[in-house]
Amino acid sequence: MMKTISVLGSTGSIGTQALEIIKERGFRACALAAASNIDLLEKQAREYKPKIVCIFNKSKYPKLKENLSGTGIRVTAGEEGLCEAAAFPEADIVLNSVVGIAGLEPVLEAINAGKDIALANKESLAAGGELVMKAAANKGVNIYPVDSEHSAIFQCLQGNKKKSVRRIILTASGGPFYGKTAKELQNVTAKDALKHPNWDMGAKITIDSATMMNKGLEFIEAIWLFSLKPEQIEVVIHRQSIVHSAVEFVDGATIAQLGVPSMKLPIQYAFTYPERLKCVENVSLTRIGNLTFDKPDREVFVCLGAAEKAIKRGGLYPAFVNCVNEYAVNLFLQDKLKFLQIGELVLGASEHNSPEINDMKITTGNIKKIDAMAKLFASGFFNTPL
Ligand code: MG
Repeated sequence: MMKTISVLGSTGSIGTQALEIIKERGFRACALAAASNIDLLEKQAREYKPKIVCIFNKSKYPKLKENLSGTGIRVTAGEEGLCEAAAFPEADIVLNSVVGIAGLEPVLEAINAGKDIALANKESLAAGGELVMKAAANKGVNIYPVDSEHSAIFQCLQGNKKKSVRRIILTASGGPFYGKTAKELQNVTAKDALKHPNWDMGAKITIDSATMMNKGLEFIEAIWLFSLKPEQIEVVIHRQSIVHSAVEFVDGATIAQLGVPSMKLPIQYAFTYPERLKCVENVSLTRIGNLTFDKPDREVFVCLGAAEKAIKRGGLYPAFVNCVNEYAVNLFLQDKLKFLQIGELVLGASEHNSPEINDMKITTGNIKKIDAMAKLFASGFFNTPL
């Protein structure tokens, strides 16, 4: 098997693991794109010899261009470069592991170029799910989930009919603050929140995991990927991160996917589907001993309910809530917001009554407007300029 892959977000946690798989499997990376880490991007470019690289942060472009001069690799920058890498003609699959709403435009670009997508960027579905799924259906391209929970659901669905699905059990680790009271969380810092018990991930998703917004975004992601209704999804806390999610069928069968907490398997499965190739060790059930399941604490972790509220309101509310969350996480990482204020802000966004948001059609242009509105809303809520 040979695959040629465009890796968007190549210097992040998913991107670096994807490149390891590409190396191990003898696949080719034809395009690499990164947000701002030019040192690692240059190193990757020299090792994987893509035809094109993109640095999203335009201020880093001249240095990268100079450093890669003479290699024959085309160096691009910004959204234009990212979209060029996304639609690169040689790619069979485009891995979208860009962080945040910035991943929406390139995934649409890749779909329109007829590429299959390995999707790790949940914000593109949270904000523009309708656009992405419609475009994929129109172009007849496949979207393979890379998010471990959605990969699990995708795996459990194999060989079954859509109409046989009753419900989805979306598992959540609960993050570093599981079991804490609001009082105990009053003064936690970004440093505390960045210590995840099971998963080694980037900063944005780790904070989202601590607030449980990550599960809220995944809730919306699951609705779009598997065309479900909100009431068909139950979020369950599973501290060991071994059961990556499960599907309940109408006959009473529940099929779950188990595996060690590693993103390598979902990444590789998205690349090689329907083939299964050697990847990680199997779980040892006797070594784990106990698997536990609990209901989430929705009083402390309000982001989960906020995301559910947003998708039930429909239209551009999920986009608005997603973008407000991105700004909230940014403010928290800069110590301009307290941990619990992220939840207050996101909940406020989900309850925000805006005739403008109600009336806007779902287009990429309007999602950009929503992003600008979210920035104003987020900085105005506690009067913390961004
Ligand atoms: Mg996940």
